[in-house]
Amino acid sequence: KKIRVAVVLGGRSVEHAVSCASGDGVMNALDAGEFEVVPVGITQEGQWVSVDPDAAKLAIGDGQLPQITADSGLSVAVAQNPEAPRLLVTDTAGGTSVLAEVDVVFPVLHGAYGEDGTLQGLLDMAGLAYVGSGVLSSAVAMDKEFTKRLLAADGIPVGDYVVLRAGRELTADERDRLGLPVFVKPARAGSSLGITRVTDWADLPDAVEAARRIDPKVLVEAALTDVRELECGVLADEDGGPPQTTPPFEVLEAGAEGWFDFDAKYLAGESPYDFAPELPPGVAERARELAVRVFTLLDCSDLARVDFFLREDGELLVNEINTMPGLTPKSAVPQAWAEAGVDYPALVGRLVRMAARRGPGLR
Ligand code: ATP
Ligand code: MG
Ligand code: MG
Ligand code: MG
Repeated sequence: KKIRVAVVLGGRSVEHAVSCASGDGVMNALDAGEFEVVPVGITQEGQWVSVDPDAAKLAIGDGQLPQITADSGLSVAVAQNPEAPRLLVTDTAGGTSVLAEVDVVFPVLHGAYGEDGTLQGLLDMAGLAYVGSGVLSSAVAMDKEFTKRLLAADGIPVGDYVVLRAGRELTADERDRLGLPVFVKPARAGSSLGITRVTDWADLPDAVEAARRIDPKVLVEAALTDVRELECGVLADEDGGPPQTTPPFEVLEAGAEGWFDFDAKYLAGESPYDFAPELPPGVAERARELAVRVFTLLDCSDLARVDFFLREDGELLVNEINTMPGLTPKSAVPQAWAEAGVDYPALVGRLVRMAARRGPGLR
């Protein structure tokens, strides 16, 4: 019997378009002989709708950002059916007719309301199995403050930062401590959206305001200079062994302001990554060990991407972890796995199979 998988894409976060592209890739790569896909879109406003993957333009191309719209008129609801807790998708447009029962949900969502534990909580409540990390790990990994706190508590090096909760401003002492430049970030976001590199304190209020448009909680981080950026993909072992990692890959293509901004990530023509970077001895091994440590420490499941800074003295700092990294076939993690011998269809198939085998409930 085929595994029925609801691929959820779009979503309420600022990363909506990136999720459309990731979800499109996943849907198209799931082998029709083994899986049956139920495409579920979430509009920017939060409406759940069924999606026609052939009609919808979901890839990012020519600078066009895709979007889930409510055109289909079919809305989708999550419901727990006591007899069959696997039931997910109900067409509520025409009453209660059942659209689909699914075995697994694949939330290919980035950012808030999708990668942050909120959707994961809904699925847990409904008794549905899903791909990716559970409630707590998703929430912690999405929150750059709590990620840093937990990593630091375990002795993993992270950069210096200050948290500005709603209404709070940076003090003069904190300015002196962090120094310029600083990176101002929404605490819970992704794809570099809402991030500003500030080189003059006069520009700080605007940067904080830009970040607060996405998240009332903002981080001000000391900018790390003269560093290289490395990232590792992490994948759980199918047979319960230790998690596996890709060799670290390097971010090459710095954006217009010299850092990895949204345009450099998605709109530049060339791939911004080097999958076989020349690294000082031991760095690749240490990055891979650290990636597994971060993944394990935060109780992650199935997959992640851990982002590092490599200092000139050879020390690796963890920048952040993404529990649902970009998943188009051209995204960094799928490409790195392909280089490592796990091609894209094998990767997405393995993720769904692992979630189906785990089933619903606490892990
Ligand atoms: P994503 O989830 O898409 O990887 P994000 O929105 O969570 O991105 P970060 O990865 O934290 O954001 O930062 C985006 C980029 O900004 C980094 O890849 C790096 O180029 C730059 N950057 C972020 N923080 C710093 C810092 N403290 N020092 C120097 N560069 C930084
Ligand atoms: Mg991130
Ligand atoms: Mg991210
Ligand atoms: Mg990052």
